[in-house]
Amino acid sequence: MSFLLSCPNCGPRDVNEFAYAGEVTSRPAASPDVRELADYVYFRRNVAGVQREWWYHRFGCEVWFLAERDTRTNEVLRVELPARAEAEAAQAPAIPETPAV
Ligand SMILES: [Zn+2]
Repeated sequence: MSFLLSCPNCGPRDVNEFAYAGEVTSRPAASPDVRELADYVYFRRNVAGVQREWWYHRFGCEVWFLAERDTRTNEVLRVELPARAEAEAAQAPAIPETPAV
């Protein structure tokens, strides 16, 4: 499997230059109970559709960034650096709604 992923610094590159670091999650409250902590550590949404993910450009500029990727087609809809994403997250939900499959 191969597709193009666009690094915010370097532009479009083969996905094999990058390391996938999982979907974006939100940390539980300051003092989570065991169930909240287990959900955070062990469970992911694993959507069939668009999800926000962490990526690392390991064979390039070594920057961490966020991408919105359709897991069904590997189409990358958007990439952004985390600082910008955090500012926008304050105004909008962090994870967009995904279509039912
Ligand atoms: Zn890069």
